[in-house]
Amino acid sequence: MKLTFWGAARQVTGSMHLLTLDNGYTILIDCGLNYENKKEFEENNRNFPFLPGYIDLVVLTHAHIDHSGNLPNLIKQGYDGQILCTDASVDLTKNLLLDSMNVQMIESNKKRNARKKGSKKVKFHRAENNSGEGVLYNRKHVEATIDALIGMSFRKIIEINESVSIEFFEAGHILGAASVKFTITEAGVTKNIGFTGDLGNYNSQLVKDPQPMPNLDYLVSESTYGGRMHQDVSDAEEILLNYIQNTCVKYIGKLVIPAFSVGRTQSIIFAFHQLQVKGLLPDIKIFTDSPLAIRTTKLYDRYLTSLNDDAQNFYKKHGSLFAFNQLHSIEDSKESEMISTSLEPVVIISAAGMVEGGRIQEHVRNNIGNPFSTILIAGYCAEGTLGHELLQGRPSVVINKRDRQVYAKIARTDAFSAHPDQKGLMRYYESIDYKSIKKIFLVHGDETSMRALKECINLPSVEMPIEGESFLL
Ligand SMILES: [Zn+2]
Repeated sequence: MKLTFWGAARQVTGSMHLLTLDNGYTILIDCGLNYENKKEFEENNRNFPFLPGYIDLVVLTHAHIDHSGNLPNLIKQGYDGQILCTDASVDLTKNLLLDSMNVQMIESNKKRNARKKGSKKVKFHRAENNSGEGVLYNRKHVEATIDALIGMSFRKIIEINESVSIEFFEAGHILGAASVKFTITEAGVTKNIGFTGDLGNYNSQLVKDPQPMPNLDYLVSESTYGGRMHQDVSDAEEILLNYIQNTCVKYIGKLVIPAFSVGRTQSIIFAFHQLQVKGLLPDIKIFTDSPLAIRTTKLYDRYLTSLNDDAQNFYKKHGSLFAFNQLHSIEDSKESEMISTSLEPVVIISAAGMVEGGRIQEHVRNNIGNPFSTILIAGYCAEGTLGHELLQGRPSVVINKRDRQVYAKIARTDAFSAHPDQKGLMRYYESIDYKSIKKIFLVHGDETSMRALKECINLPSVEMPIEGESFLL
């Protein structure tokens, strides 16, 4: 069989790997959007380097858009098979794909409106069923994708045909995230190929520890933080308490936390809730300002048994993971603006995590000039994003085409990171007896992270495939 790396090759986004068996049966593992270069977003995602109609099966590791976001385009271009993933991923992916379509529409309208500047008749095109510039798919394709999603349980061997079976293992990371083990028999020889998907940290908030896939011959591993060690991961609650004390209690600033809607936001709210039940949370209002995050939060309650023991016990004791009286959800953009510009010291958790677009950009813009406010970056920020620029400590940044002086405190924490650092990855490799694996392919990391991880693994069998590179297994 042949394994070809079509995405997340020496970069973080756009996961897409193709397994082609000797008999021609073809399996695509993940089909994510490539966000690496915003200007080239459309060129990078519009066409596939293979014929979608010839793929026999798609397996999805988890719902994040850099793994699932181009599935509707795959269907638009001819794929008509099933998409296998875990039960929770079915529901999360539905929400994320609809959101992705809306984001593309908004960006497309912004471009169109910018070109029409000067004309008073600038309209928002809802384009439910026609794709505009920068829009890869429409509602019809998203709905067809949702229909093709098939939910599977963890730890059940699924026989696809006489030569292929698959099994999902808990990867941690976010609700429903899986590592996938393929057992493939060709000419009487059986081989096991494991794809980590995105792994989570050990001892994470909410999700279980990454579970090992046994007896692998080949491993395709993420390497997002392969070159770094997380700081301050020990006590998420203490970190939040510290920031809330020093921002909202001592002073009358706002604590603004950019966070991805799926995964990170839930971890942060859960930490606040834990502080509240312990009686440690100051009397400060906490707002979540992301409709997608609110929809996602409900799913964490629904798939409670997929979460770790601490989360399940907490739920049994307190009746909810996330709902508590100091937490308020904002769905309306007017309310969002009002809270953002009010003088009340509050906490605002909003998307997107890298401060690129979304309501968070407005919250940052409204509070960046306030020396009492803190902007707490809680996740990965790719180069070129506003989040990355803020972390560089720039005295001013451009938001909505205007220069803004940075007077607010800019802070970062790894306490809510959804990926393991180098030490965590090595712990995972130990758990799967990595020294006995014939080849380890590193994906989903920038080149520097991969090189550092490769050096740390220190085996000649480690590969860093480039886009389009194939290996015979
Ligand atoms: Zn992910």
